[in-house]
Amino acid sequence: MNDLQNLLRNLPSVDRVLGAPPLAELIETYPRALLLEGVQARIGELRREILRDPKSVQRLDLSIDAIAADAVLWVRSRRPSLRKVVNATGTLLHTNLGRAPLSRFALAAVREVGESYSNLEFDLETGARGHRYSHIEEILCRLTGAEAATVVNNNAGAVLLSLAALARDREVVVSRGELVEIGGAFRIPDVMAAGGCLLREVGTTNKTHLRDYEQAVNENTALLLKVHTSNYRIVGFTAEVSAGELVKFGRQKSLPVMEDLGSGMISDLSSFGLPREPTVADAVAAGVDVITFSGDKLLGGPQGGLIVGKKRALDSIRSHPLARALRADKMTLAALEATLRHYLDADEALREIPVLRMLAIPAEKLERKCRRLEKKLAKELDDLAAVETIPESSRVGGGALPLTELTGYAVAIAPGRMSVDDLSDRLRHGDPPLVGRIHEGRFLLNPRTLNQDEENLLPTLLASALRTETPHHE
Ligand SMILES: *Cc1c(COP(=O)(O)O)cnc(C)c1O
Repeated sequence: MNDLQNLLRNLPSVDRVLGAPPLAELIETYPRALLLEGVQARIGELRREILRDPKSVQRLDLSIDAIAADAVLWVRSRRPSLRKVVNATGTLLHTNLGRAPLSRFALAAVREVGESYSNLEFDLETGARGHRYSHIEEILCRLTGAEAATVVNNNAGAVLLSLAALARDREVVVSRGELVEIGGAFRIPDVMAAGGCLLREVGTTNKTHLRDYEQAVNENTALLLKVHTSNYRIVGFTAEVSAGELVKFGRQKSLPVMEDLGSGMISDLSSFGLPREPTVADAVAAGVDVITFSGDKLLGGPQGGLIVGKKRALDSIRSHPLARALRADKMTLAALEATLRHYLDADEALREIPVLRMLAIPAEKLERKCRRLEKKLAKELDDLAAVETIPESSRVGGGALPLTELTGYAVAIAPGRMSVDDLSDRLRHGDPPLVGRIHEGRFLLNPRTLNQDEENLLPTLLASALRTETPHHE
């Protein structure tokens, strides 16, 4: 027993290992508790090994440097859970990958407001209490023509809040063709139930006429609702009632009209060759009372649910108790204001908002990028994989512009010594992780969603994944 105790004395103390240079340097970037845990974990392992097999002392490296080096590996493998991912899928608004990347101005605004105090709810003119949403209301009204505007946590929240504020315990008339599920469990009938409203479906899946709304309205009707069908379209023999017609009918009956636009484009993007989507300003001009849309879809800003429309309706919405429960935080407001400011100048919006910039990249430019990348990869990967540029169209994603194919190109990688699933697995475990699409046995890299820095990383990431012997799972 004493012998064993003596053997264990060969292990250095935790403090001495912590002071060793490779670990001491990490104190800048990792919490001290994590470093401590790493050292204790490694020393614990060695201790167990010695107790299990006392002779192992001869072959184990018990030096401070060796233990510190192992602890460094352990600590480095404990990266933050939420981190950057390289999106090579070409899908611009990939909900699983965080939707819209922010503009550099939006990021700077988040930083400035986040690292200090701010006038979030403080009126600098008068020194009195200010309003949290004053920072975005004026610019939203200016960009859309609306009388009033506010923002909550996300668009699902915006729809829920607006329904609860305008139609609680009363009927909301919706076309059957618009009772959609948008993904992530956002179903209009469920949201309506959660808002305490009674759903009154009208029309059929493919056709709804104004007379259907007319027949449904009664003394308990509170609201006429239109919903953008986002990621789904009914094609062929169809009919729907436009927002304008619905507004005209609503006025006759003194009923407000609400439209959930989903993606909500601020600007008309048809000049980039995209189909003309109804913009928020179109809905405002049609006279819709309440319009809801997302901050992190085609708008290209932070997650948020924007609500614009008539002052009367917005007053009810803003004063509803749910508004407080769903309120947007200061970092969202900072990023949103900076993003909206880009739209004051269409050229600036296109240049600075990443989603718009990527959306507008012409196919020829993507082809040139692919050919350049193909050359670099072919050289770097040598005989590890076959590399080829192929035509590839991608999607906007996030339920926006569902029928739009963004024509472009991708570099297709056919690994020589492993399956394409293995390659994909290894790339996902890389640093940074890389996500792409697999198609017909090849791994596709679509440069539409890559910035220049990320593009430059690809040869190294691919080479290291293709050379790895076994997938290194953590
Ligand atoms: C995306 C979408 C939503 C949900 O918006 P979030 O910002 O994701 O909460 C609601 N309605 C429509 C029509 C949508 O397209």
